[in-house]
Amino acid sequence: MAVMESEALAALRRVFGFEAFRGEQEAVIEHVIAGGDAVVLMPTGGGKSLCYQIPALVRPGTGVVVSPLIALMQDQVDALRALGVRAGFMNSTQDFDERRVVEAEFLAGELDLLYLAPERLRLDSSLELLSRGKISVFAIDEAHCVSQWGHDFRPDYLTLSLLGERWPDVPRIALTATATHATHREITERLAMPDARHFVASFDRPNIQYRIVPKADPKKQLLGFLREEHAGDAGIVYCLSRNSVEKTAEFLSRNGIEAVPYHAGLDAGTRAAHQARFLREDGLVVVATIAFGMGIDKPDVRFVAHLDLPKSVEGYYQETGRAGRDGLPSTAWMAYGLNDVVQQRKLIHSGEGDEAFRRRAAQHLDAMLALCETAGCRRSRLLAYFGQDDDAPAGCGNCDTCLTPPETWDGTVAAQKVLSAVVRLKRERGQKFGTVQIVDILLGKRTAKVIQFDHDQLSVFGIGEDLSEGEWRGVVRQLLAQGLLAVEGDYGTLVLTEASGAVLRREREVPLRKEPKKPVTSRSGSSG
Ligand code: ADP
Ligand code: ZN
Repeated sequence: MAVMESEALAALRRVFGFEAFRGEQEAVIEHVIAGGDAVVLMPTGGGKSLCYQIPALVRPGTGVVVSPLIALMQDQVDALRALGVRAGFMNSTQDFDERRVVEAEFLAGELDLLYLAPERLRLDSSLELLSRGKISVFAIDEAHCVSQWGHDFRPDYLTLSLLGERWPDVPRIALTATATHATHREITERLAMPDARHFVASFDRPNIQYRIVPKADPKKQLLGFLREEHAGDAGIVYCLSRNSVEKTAEFLSRNGIEAVPYHAGLDAGTRAAHQARFLREDGLVVVATIAFGMGIDKPDVRFVAHLDLPKSVEGYYQETGRAGRDGLPSTAWMAYGLNDVVQQRKLIHSGEGDEAFRRRAAQHLDAMLALCETAGCRRSRLLAYFGQDDDAPAGCGNCDTCLTPPETWDGTVAAQKVLSAVVRLKRERGQKFGTVQIVDILLGKRTAKVIQFDHDQLSVFGIGEDLSEGEWRGVVRQLLAQGLLAVEGDYGTLVLTEASGAVLRREREVPLRKEPKKPVTSRSGSSG
């Protein structure tokens, strides 16, 4: 054992030029060098690569790395070669001759590491090739891609269970930065690794400050945030749609912040150019859909901003995790509002997938909403979600709710007013009314649509003049987040849930967060 340990440490120092292992690395590496299977869960930036690269260097044969990140393989291989590691890759971007060279190197035992796209392993020719060489270890990177419930699902990953059948003597190591218990279990099952040892690193990223602000005028809020706290910094802004990606990038550029768009609708050349600029330049902002970021190793990303609500806590954690890989202070900032809740609920309702799929999606969304609406520490909440409550301090002192604890108030009566209005409108058969109409009625506004449907005749008309329009929207948003209201159909019609009854019957109290008086950051720009 001691001999292997020193071999690993020697490789770390000689090849990579690092003094010591970090966290779980040493335990993982020793286990794999000794021939054991491993499932490794480490946050982004935790140092997963060395966990398979060093066993590949120490054990005889070639380490085969399965990775979905085809666009990065060339860079990864180049970086390894610069360190003197004999590395190669095989994917669809190569022509026949290039592939032949790599195949020959592999068969001659001249490769320490071979990177493969997962779809290669569907081909008999690839499997045949692999059986003719000597393999030291199989590494399955981004292993959460095997999970059908995650947003990164790759059907080709399902075929990877055959590796264990065909090469029972070759150790396998699956790695991911996604770590709910459910994903964890799925990886173990679907990759058929029942005997694997599990290594779970802490998911706390103490240098990232988590902040979630109420959405009012998101682009302006973003601009204010960037100007006040991250002028000249590199960062990523996530938006849900390609359209809002384009508009936001334009808006920032017009206001003096260098920003480029990135989404799947741009041609491959533009995408590659923008990604390359982001990696190379110091202070570029990339405005992107979630298509951007997986596997990108840029240590000095100072902020990650979300203009739309991520679909799950896993997604949020992964995306925000791209900030501050160098350990220096960074910000995870998000603007979140009522429309996010309505839109996501509608998407789930009218989206594809069977009943079970929708239920899972709704659970993911609920967890995300709970994180947004919590009055407690966001970091504790986040870590608790990953089953790491023990690592969660009661208050981290580095998230918005710790820094300025939100006030709560007894919203029971306000909730009853909203729910009563929803009940009244439901009686109007065939008509569909969303939040706007409900709030107008509560505020006693005689809008054209209120007059048209005689809603000024309802008993609930004008019973909500004690709160502002923004406050009412906040109440509706929180009721949706708490499951006391639901949306239905394509128009965002508000409907009651099973839990609503208890509130209407006064059997249940409804604590709500107070909406900040001035949600927009000061000094925000005025154009656009
Ligand atoms: P992950 O794949 O988990 O996101 P990486 O493997 O890309 O993380 O490692 C993140 C960064 O940390 C890289 O720049 C890597 O070189 C560095 N790193 C990893 N392990 C060590 C170590 N033991 N000592 C110093 N730096 C390390
Ligand atoms: Zn906190």
